[in-house]
Amino acid sequence: MLPKFADVVIIGGGVIGSSVAYHLAKEKIGAVVLEKEDFISGSSGACEGLLLLQSKKPGIHLELAMASTRRFPQLSEELGSEIEYEQKGGLVIIESEEELDAMKLFVEKQKACGVDLTLLDRDQTLEMEPALSPHIIGATYSPFEGQVNPFLLTRAFLGAAEKLGAKVFTHAEVRGIGISKRHINAVNTTKGRIETPLVINAAGASAGVIGDLVNLNIPVKPRRGQILVTESVPPLVRYCILSAAYIAAKFNPSLAESGGMGFAVEQTKNGNVLIGSTREFVGFDRQTTFDGVNTIAGQILRVFPRFKDLHVIRAYAGLRPYTPDGLPILGPVEGLEGFIMAAGHEGDGITLSPVTGEIIAKVITREKIPFPMDHFKLERFDTAS
Ligand SMILES: Cc1cc2nc3c(=O)[nH]c(=O)nc-3n(C[C@H](O)[C@H](O)[C@H](O)COP(=O)(O)OP(=O)(O)OC[C@H]3O[C@@H](n4cnc5c(N)ncnc54)[C@H](O)[C@@H]3O)c2cc1C
Repeated sequence: MLPKFADVVIIGGGVIGSSVAYHLAKEKIGAVVLEKEDFISGSSGACEGLLLLQSKKPGIHLELAMASTRRFPQLSEELGSEIEYEQKGGLVIIESEEELDAMKLFVEKQKACGVDLTLLDRDQTLEMEPALSPHIIGATYSPFEGQVNPFLLTRAFLGAAEKLGAKVFTHAEVRGIGISKRHINAVNTTKGRIETPLVINAAGASAGVIGDLVNLNIPVKPRRGQILVTESVPPLVRYCILSAAYIAAKFNPSLAESGGMGFAVEQTKNGNVLIGSTREFVGFDRQTTFDGVNTIAGQILRVFPRFKDLHVIRAYAGLRPYTPDGLPILGPVEGLEGFIMAAGHEGDGITLSPVTGEIIAKVITREKIPFPMDHFKLERFDTAS
């Protein structure tokens, strides 16, 4: 049964809500996590687990990712659970002279922010990743990138939070939020009402729907990504792989819509190869499509010809919580005391989950936050609904 009162209610049991619950619990604040479906049923359970720096915009986006990825080597021990973290290193594959020119600039900017990056020629790249096609031109390499199992990571945050006093409820959909004199005072759910002065909106791609409940325009939109999963095979892909085109499509929606979406590839610990992914604005539709699957399969064979012998065993789609500037929305909202945002991580939520939990816990305990929060506040957008 839901408690009648909670110090903090977190809406959403994905990787972000779970990390926030854990970081609050570490500060002895036992939050109540409400999830409308099952845990990890949102984007955190329908994604890849790449922990990348090279896909982040130089500046605050990259700084946030660097702070977050530094947490991963110790995270399994800290949370007391296996999360299948592997620091494999990452390669961004370059297929054309235009991409090479763009990546040279990108590398300089990333290096200036402190990322350890090397530009590799074709032979060096093929020596490191022999399954690639010889038509590629080269790659950029970052040794600090890695991957994690997003299910295990989310479960680990939740499990650790519960051990420290958090309470978690599934099939509890938040349908209303009580406000009195511009202060949050309750949430109404399909399982009952909880009085609370603090609500954290960690509803992922549905963060805007939660905004509607409090008359706020929160510009988070679902951006679908489809992924193919192959049978488990012996080691075939050594590094975390991204294409230069994937980075371009991430920050330029028109490129993704016109088919220039690029690719992301990882081989999981148990041998399945995950191949992604599309970037589509189709509302809350989580279906895979023939076109999406076909496009992913077609373009990956050009770059990894050996994949033609792999059997695809399933495909799935997740909804990235997209924001117009690619940065998450984090922290308090002006004029609505007790409403705190922790959403809008687009294709980076697994990577950014540790640092997001840390930041939101500091917001609530009113400690100093080591990032300029203006970049993340909701008010950078027009919020009138
Ligand atoms: C194809 C694809 C590939 C990706 N690859 C990567 C990657 O390699 N690396 C990376 O870092 N990130 C990746 N991402 C991004 C990552 O998956 C997301 O940024 C992250 O999972 C967002 O987590 P979240 O907790 O905000 O959202 P979610 O996991 O969606 O959790 C939000 C939860 O809120 C619940 N909810 C919504 N409304 C309500 C309500 N009214 N009441 C109660 N509960 C509610 C939902 O059911 C959901 O479970 C990828 C995403 C996709 C789609």
